[in-house]
Amino acid sequence: MKHSDIVIIGAGISGAVLAERYASRGKRVTIIEKRDHIAGNCYDYVDDNGILVSKYGAHLFHTNYDDVWAYVNRFSEWYPWEHKVLAKVDDKLVPIPVNITTVNTLYGLSISNESEMREWLEAERIDIPDAANGRDAVLHKVGEDLYEKMFRHYTKKQWDKYPEELDASVLNRIPVRTNFDDRYFSDRYQALPKGGYTRFFAALLDHPNIEVLLNTDYFDVKDQIGRPEKLFYTGPIDRFFEFKHSLTEKLEYRSINFVSETVECKEFQENSVINYPGREVDYTRIVEYRHFGNQTGPAVTTIVKEYTTDEGDPYYPVPNARNQEIYERYRKEAEALEDVYFVGRLANYKYFNMDQAFKNALDLFQQLEPKQLKSIPT
Ligand code: UDP
Repeated sequence: MKHSDIVIIGAGISGAVLAERYASRGKRVTIIEKRDHIAGNCYDYVDDNGILVSKYGAHLFHTNYDDVWAYVNRFSEWYPWEHKVLAKVDDKLVPIPVNITTVNTLYGLSISNESEMREWLEAERIDIPDAANGRDAVLHKVGEDLYEKMFRHYTKKQWDKYPEELDASVLNRIPVRTNFDDRYFSDRYQALPKGGYTRFFAALLDHPNIEVLLNTDYFDVKDQIGRPEKLFYTGPIDRFFEFKHSLTEKLEYRSINFVSETVECKEFQENSVINYPGREVDYTRIVEYRHFGNQTGPAVTTIVKEYTTDEGDPYYPVPNARNQEIYERYRKEAEALEDVYFVGRLANYKYFNMDQAFKNALDLFQQLEPKQLKSIPT
């Protein structure tokens, strides 16, 4: 393997951003990627039905960070896309996050303004200040009935844990709205890259100083790497340390089994994502990809059912006190290493959104290369 100044393990968001940053500063960068493609879990491609689909689940970019928004716009055009999600509850399709329409549809009400909605919530919710787990967080906001209908079983399917076994932060990702706003996110910038994420990543990595080795497991080649100036690792942190702190207690991750189907029709469902928060089916949601970017074409559509599982590639860290404690043991080891940096969702064991992953990688670069601070692109 030829010598590089910077070695990066993983070609997802964190790895690609750091590669681009270092390459643009004249460093020779090698990315080592186990999979046969770049873009990490953002990887998308045009399938046999001619539809742009994401291999690892829908990725919706949204951010309030001006610097992240400016950065991603250097490598692709982005078109505005405000994501919406419907949930099938009591055989009705209702918007999630909970808003006025959700409550009116489920309970046959005609709430028409914010103060009526606040009044309704006030009567339903259970006051649990400083909610410490997911269950209390939801009960505090919407009360028992919506908790049961929309959150309890979905969470069990998603994490194989009930909300009380998870940090409040997991369930607090979903707001409750007192108006008619049915967007999934409320960030200032919400968009998708024209032509898809893989193309965006290809542009990010399109630099003569960057070499990407696909189909290469870092742990198979690490003895051939020599000693780069810096090594950035974006894989699961416990794997790096050969699971030494997990012999009795495993650091948990969730994976997703994506089951794709072709359906002979123009449109299978009325929205890109429909969640199934009930017990009647095992999947958490069905994604119909042609909705993203309003893709047109022949009367055939691709849908993907998502089943979460604890086997397979790790996608989600599982945020709770037990896992945090195990992670801490690894973090301390990681901190003691010289010139080795742990970046991203799996290496930091944090439930980052995409923009947080961009932000962290950009901030880390600034922190490590302070002289470059003034020349960060706008
Ligand atoms: N959640 C739920 N019902 C839903 C959607 C989400 O109970 O219909 C809970 C569930 O615990 C989930 C968490 O809220 O893991 C965060 O949801 P989000 O959509 O942010 O998850 P992601 O898109 O990252 O899988």
